[in-house]
Amino acid sequence: MKLLCNYYVTLKCNAKCEFCNIWQDKDNFHLQEQSLTEIENNLRALKRLGVKIIDFTGGEPLLYPHLVAALHLAKKYGFYTTITTNCSLYPQYATRLKGLVNMLFFSLQSTEETVHNAITQANLFDKVIESIKVTKQIKQKVSLLHTVTNANIKDLAKMVKFAQKNKCVLRINPCFSYFGNVELAKDFIAQIKKQSEKSYVVVNLALLKFIEDGGNQINNPACQAVNSTVVISPDNYLILPCFHHALQKIKIENNLYELHTTKKIKDMEKQVGKFTFCQDCKITCYMRASLLKKYPYLTIKSWLQSLKEMMRKQT
Ligand code: SF4
Ligand code: SF4
Repeated sequence: MKLLCNYYVTLKCNAKCEFCNIWQDKDNFHLQEQSLTEIENNLRALKRLGVKIIDFTGGEPLLYPHLVAALHLAKKYGFYTTITTNCSLYPQYATRLKGLVNMLFFSLQSTEETVHNAITQANLFDKVIESIKVTKQIKQKVSLLHTVTNANIKDLAKMVKFAQKNKCVLRINPCFSYFGNVELAKDFIAQIKKQSEKSYVVVNLALLKFIEDGGNQINNPACQAVNSTVVISPDNYLILPCFHHALQKIKIENNLYELHTTKKIKDMEKQVGKFTFCQDCKITCYMRASLLKKYPYLTIKSWLQSLKEMMRKQT
């Protein structure tokens, strides 16, 4: 069942995070991005496919000029929406986004300005702080998305205190490897678990267990990327099996629903998680919707924890 769409509206970005390679490919900055008509055609098809959640992602999604209009359309079709921003443009978009985003994430890599700016190679720390203040003024709930690496894990307790002090949910996201970058070492998982019971903290316990167990195994794959998640590129291609290891790009010509009835996609649904590059994969973006079957108790426990923290007052 298709549950989620990772809708890449742009691959432009004004940061250069060390654990991301989107900004490294200059071709990403010259893609012909979608018109609103193409977005609406795809949203209609996604509805027919049974998708519930649209994650408008990037790049920096606020660099896509039609993002607000796209969110209005997503709401018109009844989708649950999420975006993650590096905050460079959030303050100027805040009021226009209010009511359109069910889960808003701000990327924050450290509580220290110099460290955050060094990791993202952009002077965005002040923008994150300003954006948090704006959310309080307009009563918009927000989660801080913190990517934990072998270098910044030592400051995890500080991050938790920062989130608690600012009354924002902290989502702890272990760094995964996909372009030769170093993933979070298994030995550090226990330190994340230690923080998981604290207020304002959300951790995917199923994902932590999955990492401890070594990630996806090609002889018994957990990954449900093609089955659970539709991936669309800014220039309107369907990406298979996943964005990070795109084996096929199929041009969408107002036929996203019909494409999903083709043998090509049915075959890909059977092969997903079994490719050589899938061995040991821990790419979070696809595991969110894949781990219920493998770890039902931990997945449901984490969903409930997330719900509880999102209900918590943030002002
Ligand atoms: S802000 Fe996001 S898209 Fe941009 S470089 Fe960082 S992780 Fe990559
Ligand atoms: S296991 Fe990883 S690399 Fe393979 S399809 Fe899934 S997300 Fe992509």
